[in-house]
Amino acid sequence: MKYPRIDIDLSKLKSNFTKLNTKCLEKKINLTVVTKGIAGDQKIIETFINSGVKSIADSRLDNIKKIRKLNYQGEIILLRIPKKTEINEAVDYIDYSLVTELESCKLLAKAANKKNKKIGVIVMVDIGDRREGVMPQDLTDFIQKIIKLPGLYLEGIGTNLGCYGCVIPDQANTKRIIALKNKVEKELAIKINRLSGGNTATTNLFGTGLLEAEINNLRIGEAILLANDVTNQRQIDYLEQDVFTIKAEIVELKEKPSLPKGSQGCNFSGDQIKFKDKGIVKRAILAIGSQDIDHSSLYPELKGIEILGSSSDHLLLDLSNCKENLKYGDVLKFKVGYSALLRAMTSPYVAKNYLTANEN
Ligand SMILES: *Cc1c(COP(=O)(O)O)cnc(C)c1O
Repeated sequence: MKYPRIDIDLSKLKSNFTKLNTKCLEKKINLTVVTKGIAGDQKIIETFINSGVKSIADSRLDNIKKIRKLNYQGEIILLRIPKKTEINEAVDYIDYSLVTELESCKLLAKAANKKNKKIGVIVMVDIGDRREGVMPQDLTDFIQKIIKLPGLYLEGIGTNLGCYGCVIPDQANTKRIIALKNKVEKELAIKINRLSGGNTATTNLFGTGLLEAEINNLRIGEAILLANDVTNQRQIDYLEQDVFTIKAEIVELKEKPSLPKGSQGCNFSGDQIKFKDKGIVKRAILAIGSQDIDHSSLYPELKGIEILGSSSDHLLLDLSNCKENLKYGDVLKFKVGYSALLRAMTSPYVAKNYLTANEN
């Protein structure tokens, strides 16, 4: 066996997709699976395809190209607003793109028109999170300008919360995006097909009746992959928590002073660190580092282990409160959050190990 590695339980993943998809369909919501956290991993995408996924969104064209090579008949959305330099090529692979810039719409239209295609756009609106989005007061004007472009059609409007500004989807902002849709429809005398209301954080509003009213699409990654909702700091209890497990090997285990000795500068990423004096501690080094994981979203399976930090190739642990008798060469298991998953799936140094039923 090769370490570090990430175990990927495909049957649990399938179960998560199926459960969430059923929940969405009950509310007449189409579920778009967001695959940007898994670097276009073929086995995972195939699992979604075999489970009947109809809509996939990814932020990277490289991943989208991989998906297009598979036997998949559903739609593909370019999730990150397009780069000027990728638009011409993107048009060959995507059905829809999120957009916020007039210039990108013109380029999309031109490229699509030249290739005799039509690209649907979903105009993102910033209702508070301050990442991508047209400001609400500019929405009607923006849409009026793009609906005339040949090669392009307005598929819908959308919004994204949580990811940058940590803004929680709630009654007020959900009603606001719905009201905006109605306003634009009225002002321009058009019908807007899709209201793409949010991501994992928005599933917190399931059961409130708010979404059922108008929101007919959600773009979801974290909930399906990790059964987690970091924005609302909650685990999603009706989904499987441990689709992914990271395993890494102990390469040093010693009693060491917790305080560094010598005059202090910065660590490998240029940060100054304040260390706490805990005396002599039982310290382990694992052969996995920040090139492979983000240690701030890594959770040891054994009780009593504290993660101290990482450098590019080393993860440092305090084992003082861990009851297990660990030694050099032992393999430790970790649950992952989104940022650790993202890096592990992207790192070529982390082996990908697929579990099907009954393995562990
Ligand atoms: C990442 C992303 C999503 C999915 O977010 P999750 O929290 O993983 O569900 C949805 N929409 C956009 C625009 C994104 O960038």
